[in-house]
Amino acid sequence: MKTALLLVDVQNDFCPGGNLATARGDEVASKIAELISTPDSRTRDYVATVATQDWHIDPGAHFSEKPDFVDSWPVHCVADTYGAEIRGPVRRDLIDQFFKKGEYSAAYSGFEGKNADGALLGDWLREQGVTHLDVCGIATDYCVRATVLDALKEGFEVRVLRGMCSPVDDKGGADALQAMMDAGAEIV
Ligand SMILES: [Zn+2]
Repeated sequence: MKTALLLVDVQNDFCPGGNLATARGDEVASKIAELISTPDSRTRDYVATVATQDWHIDPGAHFSEKPDFVDSWPVHCVADTYGAEIRGPVRRDLIDQFFKKGEYSAAYSGFEGKNADGALLGDWLREQGVTHLDVCGIATDYCVRATVLDALKEGFEVRVLRGMCSPVDDKGGADALQAMMDAGAEIV
């Protein structure tokens, strides 16, 4: 069994002050920063730490001046801008691979993401022999949820680190945790 830590969209725009902020974004970023810089008995066996990034160039109807906050959103995570960068104090140098998604269309699941070599997240993880994923990040009710459901479909065993996930809203976050659990994820 090989476990990787998967950080979903821990980006400036999804944290307080960002264009699409979630209330607990900074709390989650701080906890994740501590987790990856001081691994404990539960987490020191990770074979890799990987991060997904929403990375928009021209994502069509994903952006709107009148967003419905379901299928359309304010402009966020534009490629190569501050808003798309990994949120501090999470240290980029402690992340082994970055998988970017959503250049020209909406992409909620990290499994749509590709690394600098063009490898898809799922293929890269399998190449490393990863069988288990611990998943956390932003937002619980959108990209974390979609990423976890795809991870399960691709055959990974998944634990969701719920204290390190930030939702768009609390009800949506609770529903997402239930949906991930129903699909086979362990919520810890
Ligand atoms: Zn987006």
